[in-house]
Amino acid sequence: MSSQKLFLFDFDGVIVDGMDEYWHSSLLAFEKYLTSPNLIDQNFYKQVSNTFIEMRPWVKYGWEMLIIVNQIIKREDPLNNQNKCDFLNKYNQNCQKVLLENSWVPEELQKGLDEARKYQIAKDFDSWIKLHRPFYEVLDFIERIKKDNIKSAIITTKGRIFASKILKKLNIFPELIFGYESGTKVQIASKLSREFEIIGFIEDRRNTLLDIKESPITNNIPCYLADWGYLKNIDRINLPHEIKLLKLVNLEKLLAI
Ligand SMILES: [Mg+2]
Repeated sequence: MSSQKLFLFDFDGVIVDGMDEYWHSSLLAFEKYLTSPNLIDQNFYKQVSNTFIEMRPWVKYGWEMLIIVNQIIKREDPLNNQNKCDFLNKYNQNCQKVLLENSWVPEELQKGLDEARKYQIAKDFDSWIKLHRPFYEVLDFIERIKKDNIKSAIITTKGRIFASKILKKLNIFPELIFGYESGTKVQIASKLSREFEIIGFIEDRRNTLLDIKESPITNNIPCYLADWGYLKNIDRINLPHEIKLLKLVNLEKLLAI
């Protein structure tokens, strides 16, 4: 193992809040690129559904957002704040059910989402960027560690190209960026741990951090659950002691390690 230090960051919910973009791009994917049973009313674009915001912490891959959006905008028996718990109680099974009902496969939905993003980037890049709200404290942190000769890697379930474009616009240039094309986060972290001394991983998905801690190759990576990200309330409770809940105001303290 090299002595080159590396810090890992998730992207969505850790570096940027992209809630407006997830909603907008999912609608656009249905409007332009996917066969949808729903008519896409232009009024849908005006405001992100609260039900969508509430359900975002359950999402692992981008295509799942399209499932949720589809269920929210459908005419009959739509998902709303009253019945969302039923869906969430069996989240994975329900996602599979919606796939089957609509004869969709995840790859097709993901492609639709990616196409919707490419379309916006080509048409009006700045408007697309404005749908993302950066967490400036995290951007500052990445800049700070660079001065200490610590490299940064972004590992995201987004397409690599989209994370790269946003980071570049924010003037942040991490040494490494991995998207969903590169495999699971545990696979990426395992590979990186052979080359680098990984001194931390900030992520807002508790299960991802649990996976990191369960793998013998990555279990020595210090894991931090981003309190400012898309968390379920239950995520903060009974956190295993080897995963630390990190608040945005305490980011700087990590440098004292
Ligand atoms: Mg995240």
